[in-house]
Amino acid sequence: MSAASTSSAPGKFDARPFLAIWETTQACDLICKHCRACAQAARNPQELTTEEGKGLLDQFASGGVPLVVLTGGDPAKRPDLLELVEHGIRAGLNLGLTPSATPLVTDALVAELAALGLSRLAISIDGPTPAVHDDFRGVDGSFAEARRILAAARRAGLATQANTTIHAGNIGQLSAMAALVEELGARLWSVFYVVPTGRAQADMLPDADSVEASLQELAQIAARVRFGVKTTAAPHYRRVLAQRAKRGDGRIQHGTYGATAIRINDGRGFVFVSHQGEIFPSGFLPVACGNVRNDPVLDVYRNHPVFTALRDTERLRGKCGACEYRNLCGGSRARAYALTNDYLRSDELCSYVPPGYTGPLGLEREPLRLRLVET
Ligand code: SF4
Ligand code: SF4
Repeated sequence: MSAASTSSAPGKFDARPFLAIWETTQACDLICKHCRACAQAARNPQELTTEEGKGLLDQFASGGVPLVVLTGGDPAKRPDLLELVEHGIRAGLNLGLTPSATPLVTDALVAELAALGLSRLAISIDGPTPAVHDDFRGVDGSFAEARRILAAARRAGLATQANTTIHAGNIGQLSAMAALVEELGARLWSVFYVVPTGRAQADMLPDADSVEASLQELAQIAARVRFGVKTTAAPHYRRVLAQRAKRGDGRIQHGTYGATAIRINDGRGFVFVSHQGEIFPSGFLPVACGNVRNDPVLDVYRNHPVFTALRDTERLRGKCGACEYRNLCGGSRARAYALTNDYLRSDELCSYVPPGYTGPLGLEREPLRLRLVET
């Protein structure tokens, strides 16, 4: 067994997630092409109430979850947003927020969030130019709003994060994106490789070789910029970093607030609660394992068979199961599920072939085709 495999920490995230995300609402005024939530403009009356939300935040606080993020949809669509943020911070949470870049996030709201003690504000930037970004987000002016909100956060002394979705159409623009993230003064760049769920379709996926090249480029960028870099739904970035370190390139700056250095993955160090209270291993892996209206969220995280399976890398199948980096990486379980209906299969966006592996390389795409035909 290689150093990469033995250096893992089995069971490290068995007791509690490192990161809990609550989808406060699915309402949003943008119309992004890839939207996981298939967001609509109106709020759903079945959303968790203010009191239910506070109870959920209390569970995270008493359970010692290190980091909690309020997301959406657009959390700014909830009139009780400040009340929830204040409650969470008073409960002792390290709280982040990912609102959508719309006029709802006024400069005054940003200042209030900063005054309450919000840890970080994350805003999406999906292209180096307004044309690329606005086309993807579906609303003209969204790029300008994103810049305005990030500037307001800087003025308010609030740490910021830029989130970028990588898909087949923008995978060649990483360097230009990184320059923009630097200009905007973000502390962390979270680079998300698209998962075909919600509105995102399989034809948005880049091919595995392009992803590999982009992860190598990302490692080079991370070595030279002042902000941290992490990936979401591309845990093989950790494999790329480990391989580069083995070759003597150890100049990597890990995002201190990110997941790159801490090896979290869907259901492993990560839990997601939907707007209606369903408990998922992640927002991109929509397998409901309980509901916070009935089930203590950390009990589900610790004990539900889907979560325990996701934390057991010996159960991975195919190439990921044979890979010496499976504890360090493990592949995107969400993408495996989206493409094959099996969250334990290999991640098709990784081009690495483990030494001696002779099994199938291309995954069983038939289920995906069947599903697309059915819909
Ligand atoms: S901003 Fe987020 S919630 Fe709103 S449409 Fe885009 S991806 Fe969906
Ligand atoms: S084969 Fe799977 S576990 Fe190995 S590096 Fe690729 S995605 Fe990660």
